Amino acid sequence: MEYTNDAAAPKLEFAVRCRGITKTYGTGDASAIALRGIDLEVYRGELLMLVGPSGCGKTTLISVIAAILDQNSGDCEVFGQNLQRMSRKERTRFRGESIGFVFQLFNLLPALNSIENVAIPLLINGISPKESEARAIAALEQVQLEDHLDSLPGQLSGGQQQRVAIARALVHDPKLIVCDEPTSSLDHQTGHSVMEILRGVAKSHDRSLIVVTHDPRIFEFADRIAHMDDGKIVDVIDGENKKRLHRESQERLQREIKERLQ
Ligand code: ADP
Ligand code: MG
Repeated sequence: MEYTNDAAAPKLEFAVRCRGITKTYGTGDASAIALRGIDLEVYRGELLMLVGPSGCGKTTLISVIAAILDQNSGDCEVFGQNLQRMSRKERTRFRGESIGFVFQLFNLLPALNSIENVAIPLLINGISPKESEARAIAALEQVQLEDHLDSLPGQLSGGQQQRVAIARALVHDPKLIVCDEPTSSLDHQTGHSVMEILRGVAKSHDRSLIVVTHDPRIFEFADRIAHMDDGKIVDVIDGENKKRLHRESQERLQREIKERLQ
């Protein structure tokens, strides 16, 4: 099949496609313009890092992409689904099924143990308690926390808490994982091992990761690095993986078009 009109071609190679996203908080004198027209693509299978000074809009942008926050204007597609065109209910459901969010400060519930914290997204999605527990344990094993299943967050180190938070973001097998400064409160070695886990996740399956960071020590894990300043993307630098990504996305695109035509 040939597409004569580019706009009609399925954008299957993109996990995320943002066009002209703007966001202002508040009104009048108290308003803060956080996003001033963001165009950004994230490829499938990619680990994209988003860097920039404090207050430049990184958290706002990933919150829009993760369907947590509504933009004022512009379009955001996540795995081909336009978030703006969904009803609130559809968007909540899409977020619950397709997106995993790792917060800067872990956001674990202090009275719940590791298994219970990780099981939350599954229970919210209506999975039975028994299956939720089994899958939570498997996710915790994936981040090497099998010895801390019953620990409360307060009994864990920062790195262990962040790994619980990552297990919680992965447990429902989301396509897009969004991480807000996941290594900022971790020492170098621990931050490195957290990034290795996240890097492994992006490579496996049909997933993509966006990692907001201030931390130049983890840049080596990026396929591309998008630089933000004052509500805009000012530069996107290709990592060494760019060629591999491009080839893989082309192959995947051809395969999926073939499958659709069968
Ligand atoms: P970053 O994550 O890059 O530090 P943010 O996206 O958190 O930046 O913030 C971008 C801008 O929006 C900043 O000027 C910030 O003060 C403002 N801002 C962020 N969240 C809110 C909010 N809930 N209410 C009002 N202003 C906000
Ligand atoms: Mg932030």
